[in-house]
Amino acid sequence: MKTFRGVRAELVFKYGALHLCQSCKGAFIKAKRLRRKSGMSIEKCEDCAKDESENWKIIFGSFSGAKFKCPALLSGNGCEEKNLTFREFVLGRCCRAAFRREYNLGKCNIFELVGKYYKESKIEEKKEVEKVEGLKKAERGVNMSKQRQRKNVQEINELTADFLKHNTSGWNENELSTLQPNLTKIDKQLGELLNFHKQWEDGVANELCMAEQKLEKAVYERESIERRMMYLLSDALKNVKFE
Ligand SMILES: [Zn+2]
Ligand SMILES: [Zn+2]
Repeated sequence: MKTFRGVRAELVFKYGALHLCQSCKGAFIKAKRLRRKSGMSIEKCEDCAKDESENWKIIFGSFSGAKFKCPALLSGNGCEEKNLTFREFVLGRCCRAAFRREYNLGKCNIFELVGKYYKESKIEEKKEVEKVEGLKKAERGVNMSKQRQRKNVQEINELTADFLKHNTSGWNENELSTLQPNLTKIDKQLGELLNFHKQWEDGVANELCMAEQKLEKAVYERESIERRMMYLLSDALKNVKFE
């Protein structure tokens, strides 16, 4: 069976851009359309249109706008949810009952779908791990640069103090005041340098914080799909499926 061919009618809340089979009422991406001489057209899924000899045209839809109900409705203990995206629907995101069982959603291979989402979640997690590692490296770089900068600032301050002490000992107030513009300039430039560093540091820290949150989410997502898979496997082993 292909990974996705259709969702059974009783679990569809909104068809969106999926095609509604006029026979079985299921929701399909790939369907067949027949235009009657009267100008009216009908659409059916491939299975329902199979035996008819008329000239059916194959048409395609998409998941855009499609919404699904809680799959656990099939076992009688579902929840009220009916706005699930296809992914949420397959992953049983609405409630415990949906999450922990395998349901016959229609013409789709739930194992392959969950496997696909699992692969995607691992790729996503890896991406986030790399981002966090890159930012941690950047953070170490900022810290080292900060240490060097502190040293430089200290050195400049010492040189200035030294200069004032040794070279201007005999100067009067007036003479000393001629140095003031330069001292102010040095102070201003050091201030700007420190400021620039502070902004750089804050920027990296912020980015790292956000990346760590995203990584946490990605790990949670991957683990959740793993658990979903375990439940599906255990149902498959018991061969229990609510039809
Ligand atoms: Zn059908
Ligand atoms: Zn539910």
